Amino acid sequence: MVDLSDNKFLERITLAALKNGYPVLYPPPLIWDRINSTIIKRSWERVRGCVRKDPESNKICLYIHIPYCDSRCIYCNCTSYSRNNSIPLKNYLVALKTEIDSLSILTRGIKFSSLYIGGGTPTLLTNHQLKDLILYIKQNFLFGGATVFALDAHPNSLDLDKLNLLKKLGLTRLTIGVESLDKNVLRMSARKQTPDAVYQAVSLARTVGIPYLNIDLMAGLPGQTLKSFSRSLLKVISLNPDIIHINPFIPDDQTLFSEKGRRLTHDDIIKRARMIKLKNKTMKNFGQFKNIGRAPSTQTEAAINQQINLFESPEFKTSILGLGYGAISYAFGNLCYKHTGTLKDYCDRRGLFNGYPMTDDEEMRFYAIKFIRQGLNKNLFKKLFGKDFGLIFKTEVSCLKTHTACQDNNDLIRPFFKNKKEFYLFSKVFYSKKALALLEKQCFNRREDKLKKINIDAYLDET
Ligand code: SF4
Repeated sequence: MVDLSDNKFLERITLAALKNGYPVLYPPPLIWDRINSTIIKRSWERVRGCVRKDPESNKICLYIHIPYCDSRCIYCNCTSYSRNNSIPLKNYLVALKTEIDSLSILTRGIKFSSLYIGGGTPTLLTNHQLKDLILYIKQNFLFGGATVFALDAHPNSLDLDKLNLLKKLGLTRLTIGVESLDKNVLRMSARKQTPDAVYQAVSLARTVGIPYLNIDLMAGLPGQTLKSFSRSLLKVISLNPDIIHINPFIPDDQTLFSEKGRRLTHDDIIKRARMIKLKNKTMKNFGQFKNIGRAPSTQTEAAINQQINLFESPEFKTSILGLGYGAISYAFGNLCYKHTGTLKDYCDRRGLFNGYPMTDDEEMRFYAIKFIRQGLNKNLFKKLFGKDFGLIFKTEVSCLKTHTACQDNNDLIRPFFKNKKEFYLFSKVFYSKKALALLEKQCFNRREDKLKKINIDAYLDET
């Protein structure tokens, strides 16, 4: 039996999860197994019943993935292919519509709380394709009046016409991937973008009146110095976005950087940690921004109040219907899954899926892992699950307390993880026995030698 106080074991699980590209996703995709479309169908029918019965507690979000980009940046671990891929984008959009047809039937009659189109680069679509896709989504799914509609964009693929179109179609939050404003860093990352394209995209988004603007930056990119990171951050702050999200560069196996056999050096890792610290220090000087949740993002009060980050809200039992190749779906209390196979399999409608059944127990564990770092509200937990957190997770909490300083009172439990590494390691005490046994059986015997060679710090930031 697995000993949760065994740090070595927790470290092995963490490494396997990081290498796989999903450091905190629970249950880890490493242990997902082949499932069929009948199980998926039944799961969504049950979710529909729950959302209908109790719409105050049960929320459902729609995520659409567009796995195409102009070209691939070396640091990126998203599921995405170059637009010159042998399977043209237009063929993908036809397959996506077929998937929309079949899944929208299962969720008929219920209101989705949010729509998020991510990628890849959704703005790579022509205006005609974008309009056609968004209208098709809106015809097939029901959205409430206050629906959040978010979309990811590359600055090069934004112009006045596209932004006007998106505004007209109801876009409420635009994320512009900026990553860096340093030409040298952009070149070394194989990212085709100029600082001027960023300034223009931001200015146009403001002109057309997109309500919330999010800018993504990265820390620790090849060639990036503290000075260049700081310059990019200050410039982005001066553009006055509603949200600034800083992603540390974590070279998991999905990145071109790792595929080319490159590794971060010890100095690179230290430098990246310094950038994150510098960001925290810098943001404190700008009163309009506030750190939120577990993500390294900083938002204005107005943006937080709009609950634009519904996926991360601890108030609801949230299901996510993910459509498109690369999307992950959560049918709350039933199933998590994603497409497996290749992009061609997806476009040929082969219907290949990997997944993991979710019970109430697994949902509580998922919830604990998701919210423990920011401080888990025991009253909300009880309201959602009808269970006392302290009683259900007595062993896990005691284990957590042996590893970390932990605030624990009637309302709140909050372990003070010294850094992300501690969070990744010790949040794993909430893994179920089933998940741990599968991890042991399926992963470690085969991978142990490889895992031994990994420097865990290369996969982590020190926030
Ligand atoms: S960072 Fe953005 S533009 Fe670059 S490959 Fe990833 S999704 Fe595409």
